[in-house]
Amino acid sequence: MAETKGEKRAKELNYEAEHASKIISDAELKKADKFCDGYIDFLNTARTEREIAKFMKEKAEAKGFTEFDKTKTYKAGDKIYRLNRGKAIMLAVIGKKPITEGVKLAIAHIDSPRLDLKPNPLYESDEIALLKTHYYGGIKKYQWVAIPLALHGVMIKADGTKVEINIGEDEGDPKFVISDLLPHLGREQEKRPLAEGIKGEELNVIIGSRPFKDDKASNLVKLNVLDILNKKYGVVEKDFLSAELEVVPAFKACDIGLDRSMIGAYGHDDRVCAYPAAEAVFDVVNPAYTVVTVLTDKEEIGSVGNTGLDSNYLKYFIMDLAECFGANGRDVMSKSECLSADVNAGYDPTFADVMEKQNSCFLNKGVVITKYTGARGKGGSSDASAEFMGKVRGFLDKAKVVWQIGELGKVDAGGGGTVALYVAGLDIDVVDLGVPVLSMHAPFELVAKTDVYMAYRAFLEFFKLK
Ligand code: MN
Ligand code: MN
Repeated sequence: MAETKGEKRAKELNYEAEHASKIISDAELKKADKFCDGYIDFLNTARTEREIAKFMKEKAEAKGFTEFDKTKTYKAGDKIYRLNRGKAIMLAVIGKKPITEGVKLAIAHIDSPRLDLKPNPLYESDEIALLKTHYYGGIKKYQWVAIPLALHGVMIKADGTKVEINIGEDEGDPKFVISDLLPHLGREQEKRPLAEGIKGEELNVIIGSRPFKDDKASNLVKLNVLDILNKKYGVVEKDFLSAELEVVPAFKACDIGLDRSMIGAYGHDDRVCAYPAAEAVFDVVNPAYTVVTVLTDKEEIGSVGNTGLDSNYLKYFIMDLAECFGANGRDVMSKSECLSADVNAGYDPTFADVMEKQNSCFLNKGVVITKYTGARGKGGSSDASAEFMGKVRGFLDKAKVVWQIGELGKVDAGGGGTVALYVAGLDIDVVDLGVPVLSMHAPFELVAKTDVYMAYRAFLEFFKLK
């Protein structure tokens, strides 16, 4: 049957995002799966901002990146990095064009929602030793009980030495857990609103239950925990006061689905953008523009602090880079462009009522461009210009990168934000581009492999712009 006039016109005029498998070849699908094998390894290796910054620094050095020194001269093709306090990293390749034509930035965050230990966390109650926590970022507290947990971070001892802690990830390591109430006795708990089903002060991590062998001292279970920590790490209780210790889920990342099309893991948000953005800066060859991947900290609590993007560290890096070439940082920033690489809420058929389907992003429909985020009428958003949207759409289509648009749910359902507004604050054109996620901010989040790969391709094509 020949195509009707209407069918022909519909093809010419209508727009609808399609499942990636309808667009890409089997060979490319294989590439996507292979890329995701690397991503899964990364997920299981580096789980906190400090570990990711360190991992990427080491990987960068192995790939010929050297620490940026603003007193040196650099030429096209040189690869540099700057680490910010061990918790954020900037990776750059110098382009062939003058720096005054601007830089191309991909910025993802490497902090994820979790439970931080309080400054004075350890206590014993009824011969169980526990750690008090203060949750970090937007979590549904009830999801964090009765699952295996690991402890990561650093402690600074009285003499200033730093001890790195990582317990619960290696085969044979013990893990930790937060208890929940048994349903048999949960009648009152079940009447609580979901947000209070587990309260903040109930997120206490069980860390031990055997006493130190002594008849006289008190709190012997706590003492035994301190004794173990002291023997292994040389720390004493006071060292918790100068520590950053993070409790994260101890699940390993794995394939999800009989077709192995998805990945389940803790902390896809935003490692699922950080990894592709880093791989893109590692893989780009002789870029025209200077390209920079920034892996930043503290996005989940508002980009605060001097490792978050609401500080000047990125601005200073660009200014220093500009000075190296005798240029003014301000001029460089005004000409720069950025993909703010962050996740968006994938359409979940089980919770369809909070989504506006026509403007939602879907698993497997490719990388998602989010023109604006925000809440209560775009508040706290950056809102990319039509011109920049047009440019991004243009180079993605040209390179056959599968992409879609997405809003974060229904207008009045809630909202969220990214680092985009801080980048826009530097007079840089910016739009959010990332991967759709289901169960975002849960201890075990879900993404589709084709979308992860398309994120990588999007960053790489952005870095290859002439
Ligand atoms: Mn995020
Ligand atoms: Mn988030």
